[in-house]
Amino acid sequence: MEASVSNFLLLFASIAVGWLLGRLGRSKVELPAPVDDSNSYYKGLNFLLNEQADEAVLTVVNELPVRLETLPTHLALGNLMRSKGEVEAAIHIHQNLLSRPSLPRVELHKVHLELARDYISAGLLDRAERLLRDLVDESQGYRAEALEHLRHIYQTEKEWEQAIAVAVQLLPKRGWLRRAQDKSPQLVEKALSHYHCEIAERLLSDGDLKAAKRELVKAERYDSDCLRVGLLLAALSMRQGRAGEALAVLQELLRSQPLWAMQILPLFKNAFSEMASTAEYVDALSRFGATTDSSYLAVELAGALAEVKGKAEALTYIQSVVKRRPTFKTLSCWLSLSDAEGQAELRLAIDEVLATRPVYQCRHCGFSGRKLHWLCPSCEQWGTIAPVRGTQGD
Ligand SMILES: [Zn+2]
Repeated sequence: MEASVSNFLLLFASIAVGWLLGRLGRSKVELPAPVDDSNSYYKGLNFLLNEQADEAVLTVVNELPVRLETLPTHLALGNLMRSKGEVEAAIHIHQNLLSRPSLPRVELHKVHLELARDYISAGLLDRAERLLRDLVDESQGYRAEALEHLRHIYQTEKEWEQAIAVAVQLLPKRGWLRRAQDKSPQLVEKALSHYHCEIAERLLSDGDLKAAKRELVKAERYDSDCLRVGLLLAALSMRQGRAGEALAVLQELLRSQPLWAMQILPLFKNAFSEMASTAEYVDALSRFGATTDSSYLAVELAGALAEVKGKAEALTYIQSVVKRRPTFKTLSCWLSLSDAEGQAELRLAIDEVLATRPVYQCRHCGFSGRKLHWLCPSCEQWGTIAPVRGTQGD
């Protein structure tokens, strides 16, 4: 409670400064009206002392003249209201500013941007979109911020074509700057790659394979290391009956991104079954198994070995993996291949633990879950979620 009162007092001190600035500013051009201002000040203070901070803010905002020198106070109070979740109050404060056309154009643009942020917080995306589109057309200074907000709005609404149209405007215009960034795609380029993947997935499910391929080529241009592009290209090749092409893409993915074995291997196995025997599948997995320590791959290889060369050989292999890098997955596989008594319960217990553990985690914010999201639901970044590593992961 004490901390909350002291926060309110700090807030009110800033309001008082704004009020003073407004009063001083007014005295240059108008006759001062100290009684009215004092009334509003004391009225606001009264609200504050009664712990009605929102009413205190609105009272002062309504009385505080809108001038260039008081604008930062108005904006700060508006943003404070938005951050407290009082979006209606924030909208009131920012709309009040826009009703004063005497403000310079650049300041009006800033207020426009803040009002658009209020609308986004309130979920009024159509209104925010209109304001932001006007800003993109009219403001140089706030154009990039407006485009970034628009990109997020279209992303939220899954309007991928619109998101692409906005995102390309955020890319550096000069080709040499783009090339300098090629080694590590920037956030917007990663996002663009995924927007094209989203459209490609839709086209794949509609059966329009040619159009899907065109989207994937564009996606690859923005991020040549994007795993999702590779997986979709392989799925597309399989739909076209070109298992060899799919296999080439998947082999390259396994080589370059082996920690994603759990996503790559089901497709790899499917493509391999169209092209070659299980024995050749074992050979291929063994080659990848020698260069990566993915538990998922080791378990898959043990299963294929049991099928081709027998249970004893598979058991020997998985035992060597467990000794080298023990994980719950490889341990469970070992127990399932071994016939020793009493181990079924132990394996069941391990599998129960595994069934409750997160499979993926965001490298940016730490969000974790059992489902793969290309866009992190928590920090809203593309391609930051990866398989969990360690004894309870892969
Ligand atoms: Zn995240």
